[in-house]
Amino acid sequence: QKFVYDFSEGNKDLKDLLGGKGANLAEMTNLGLPVPPGFTITTAACKVYLESGAEPSALREEVSTHLAALEERMGKKLGQADDPLLVSVRSGAKFSMPGMMDTVLNIGLSDASVHGLAAQAGDERFAWDSYRRLIQMFGKTVLGVDGELFEEALEEAKGAEGATSDVELSADGLRRLVERFKGIVAHRTGRDFPQDPREQMDLAVRAVFDSWNGERAKLYRRQERIPHDLGTAVNVCSMVFGNLGADSGTGVAFTRDPASGQQGVYGDYLQNAQGEDVVAGIRNTVPLAELEELDKVSYSQLMQIMETLETHYRDLCDIEFTIERGKLWMLQTRVGKRTAAAAFRIATQLVDQGLIDEAEALQRVNGSQLAQLMFPRFDTDVKAERIGWGIAASPGAAVGKAVFDSYTAVKWSRSGEKVILVRRETNPDDLDGMLAAEGILTSRGGKTSHAAVVARGMGKTCVCGAEELEVDTKRRRLTAPGGLLVEEGDTVSIDGSTGKIYRGEVPVVPSPVVEYFEGRTQAGAEGADELVRAVHRVMEYADRVRGLRVRANADNADDASRARRFGAQGIGLCRTEHMFLGERREMVERLILADTGEERDAALGGLLPLQKDDFVELFAAMDGLPVTVRLLDPPLHEFLPDITELSVRVALAESRHEPHENELRLLQAVHRLHEQNPMLGLRGVRLGLVIPGLFAMQVRALAQAAAERKRAGGDPRAEIMIPLVGTVQELEIVREEAEQVIAEVEREYGVALALQLGTMIELPRAALTAGQIAESADFFSFGTNDLTQTVWGFSRDDVEASFFTAYLEKGIFGVSPFETIDKDGVGALVRDAVAAGRATRPDLKLGVCGEHGGDPESVHFFHEAGLDYVSCSPFRVPVARLEAGRAAA
Ligand code: PEP
Ligand code: MG
Repeated sequence: QKFVYDFSEGNKDLKDLLGGKGANLAEMTNLGLPVPPGFTITTAACKVYLESGAEPSALREEVSTHLAALEERMGKKLGQADDPLLVSVRSGAKFSMPGMMDTVLNIGLSDASVHGLAAQAGDERFAWDSYRRLIQMFGKTVLGVDGELFEEALEEAKGAEGATSDVELSADGLRRLVERFKGIVAHRTGRDFPQDPREQMDLAVRAVFDSWNGERAKLYRRQERIPHDLGTAVNVCSMVFGNLGADSGTGVAFTRDPASGQQGVYGDYLQNAQGEDVVAGIRNTVPLAELEELDKVSYSQLMQIMETLETHYRDLCDIEFTIERGKLWMLQTRVGKRTAAAAFRIATQLVDQGLIDEAEALQRVNGSQLAQLMFPRFDTDVKAERIGWGIAASPGAAVGKAVFDSYTAVKWSRSGEKVILVRRETNPDDLDGMLAAEGILTSRGGKTSHAAVVARGMGKTCVCGAEELEVDTKRRRLTAPGGLLVEEGDTVSIDGSTGKIYRGEVPVVPSPVVEYFEGRTQAGAEGADELVRAVHRVMEYADRVRGLRVRANADNADDASRARRFGAQGIGLCRTEHMFLGERREMVERLILADTGEERDAALGGLLPLQKDDFVELFAAMDGLPVTVRLLDPPLHEFLPDITELSVRVALAESRHEPHENELRLLQAVHRLHEQNPMLGLRGVRLGLVIPGLFAMQVRALAQAAAERKRAGGDPRAEIMIPLVGTVQELEIVREEAEQVIAEVEREYGVALALQLGTMIELPRAALTAGQIAESADFFSFGTNDLTQTVWGFSRDDVEASFFTAYLEKGIFGVSPFETIDKDGVGALVRDAVAAGRATRPDLKLGVCGEHGGDPESVHFFHEAGLDYVSCSPFRVPVARLEAGRAAA
């Protein structure tokens, strides 16, 4: 086994072994681009080290061989006193883990070779500056010395010379600083800073290996679901210097605009600087275009290289480069990150350039990007006063009056005000306020903070961790940089897609992509937005290849029509309980309170025509497409008044000696129906089995609606769905009753209806006995909301607010299992139920109607599991179509 690869020996496909950085350095080397020579120590070596606590025995020898070759090539030896070869030691895992692992530059400098470097460069100051950087980085990352100590010493040195930035420090000042730094190292570690260059290198390599298991890195991997056993590669690269004077510098660039996708010159350049200076933002960079005036030769060469890279990678690349005394060097490249809008535009541009095909274009975009493009946005043409910039935690554009506690949020929103809840951080006590607010703004916490997690769950706009804002809840105000005040009642606007925070009201514009899906604008029209055109084309690619059909969860004709405009191929879930709200609630109340058969029949008789009309509208909106109607699911007490409120009413009436017979009966019913665990109680099919006539009424309404539509020349395709089935016997009883009712209606109307009858699979027992259940079901629809709830034993209504933040922070999962399907647990049951169901009934139709049906990652799982369709909320239909296409391409 070979543990070390020269840059010329690798290529871009060896990311597993060489890490992303190493593989791309190798690729550039082999393209003949100017990459400083070097070699990569493989992830395999790292794995051996992490498992056994020692480097593989062959490693030392292999490194020596490669180092010797490098020295030979460069004509100087590592740390050689009169002309030292210096190297950087950089981490580089398969997946980029920004800032999580270690890097050490300028290895090879010592008390002796610093003089050689000074003589060779003709620059004392530069040599001492390089040496102090080495001791600082090495001390911190390899020897574990607190970085603050170096920073403090640096500040003092600047103070002593009256310098405002470190470039102003003199050679003498830097030499004294090196002595200080060495003193810090000796004092803190009990040993001197190592003078042997090879020892420096070996220790740095080991430190990079160790950084794989640093706390930060582990947490990051858990959250991003990067496996822990990949290890990191280590790149040893000969140093080039951008800090050798005005003819040197360093920069970053993109091969096209990562914000819009436009081709052109995009990047930043910093004269006389080393890599970290750009990132640290110590000095101001200039736009890359200005490099043309500073160094025309390097600039032209860079432009040429960027074109080579883009054609070669067939994608936008980002690069880091350094110019050392007029000579250009490439330090890094990778396929670059981009905005959602740019992703769509670049994908179609590359198709037009013939660089990629449609299938590849689908891999260049994703559903989350499409979802981002569907949120309304602030009008960027309007000048707005930005007062801060936090973490974009939950997308959308929200405007409202700032309030600093939940009580006020609720109170003001009840009186019709739009409010933004501003907190330092949120906790479960803030839930009411969060619900009442248009958006949530916090000054603390990251993407997995309580505010972020709960807001995403609620679909509320949220900006969190805006640390430059000082939130003072006692005085009800926030202070922005520069002392700017926002007090309770002042209007603020927050952008959950970018994290930007504005004072005052910024106008909101609808998403052009939604306008297009709604059919209000045409992609082909003249002057059509370029983004809309790109989205239109990518959707066409997806629809052409996808196997999964996409339906919508919709309970009324309006939602159904919108879903259809968005491309839904039917309704996968109509929750009939939503039809029993509002004024009909009273009728349901009468049904629940009925003491006699007559009373009950009267209540059902009142509901029947209303239900029928609902279904007629729905079938009309979805004419020719399947409509799955689910019979009543939730526990009945949800239709009754709140127990506390009612008790108070009864007690009041009693004390005033007012008549309260009805209230009393209601209260008794509420008590009778009260359950400790309603989610596991009298709901779903159980209701149908214990409330005589309830399901029959719904089935009759459905059959009558279908018959009426048929008579009117329509094409209704109704599917009746039974919720919360745990055993085939439940289904058999309901089926028998339903078939009788349907036959009656068919006779009555003189039409044949061909209604299908199926079940939801949302209990573990249903999944485990799917083979039996399929005997009585024409279709299965996986209710992954309840299935997740029952498989994990997590209450879907409570967890997000209670312990999920802690779970996410500890990295137990990177995303809520209610959001993205848990493939190993819930998913395993789905797979088995699919197989068992189809074994019983090969033509069994299979779908999913839980929230997961519109979640990008989950859609891929359902594709692989072999389902026929996914069903999701109307707004997510385009996302599901796109992801179904990506899964199939
Ligand atoms: C489900 O449980 O996944 C489902 C779709 O039903 P509901 O969300 O209405 O319980
Ligand atoms: Mg359910």
